[in-house]
Amino acid sequence: MAKAGVSEKTFNVWKCALDPNSTWIDAEIVENNAVRVWCSLCAKHVERLRGFRNFSDAFVNGIRGSALKRDSLAKHMGSAAHMRAEALESGPQPLQSILKTTPIGKPLTITIRLMYVCFIVANHFSSYRLHVYSILSILYTGPREGIE
Ligand SMILES: [Zn+2]
Repeated sequence: MAKAGVSEKTFNVWKCALDPNSTWIDAEIVENNAVRVWCSLCAKHVERLRGFRNFSDAFVNGIRGSALKRDSLAKHMGSAAHMRAEALESGPQPLQSILKTTPIGKPLTITIRLMYVCFIVANHFSSYRLHVYSILSILYTGPREGIE
C-alpha cells in the first residue's frame, strides 16, 4: 500500500516552521496522516488569483502523494500568487496608514503639507493682487461708459 501522505507529527513540524500563526496551511488528516495539504488563503482568494503570474490550482485543491513535501510548502509560501493572497487578506491599506507607516510616507506627508501651505499662501496673494488690480484699474480708467 502506498504511503498516505506524511505523518501528522511531521506535518505539525512543517506547519510550526512555515505557518506558526496558522494563517494558511490546512490539511486533511486521516488516521494520523496528513493526506492532503492546501493553502486556505489561496483557496479563499482563488477567484482573484486566477490569471496571476505562475498561479496554479495545486495549493487550492491540495497537494498529496509524492508532491507532499516541506519544500513544496516553502516554495508556495514564497510564490507571487501566495503573496498576492496575503495582500488581499490584509485588505487595502488606507492612505493615512501608508503615509504614517512607510519610510516614504513621512517625507511625503511633510511635502504634501508644505505644498498645501504654499498653495494657500499663493492663492491668498493672487486673489489679493487681483483685488488690488481691479481697484487700481477702476481708479486709473475711471468709470466705464454707461456707468455714471
Ligand atoms: Zn497560498
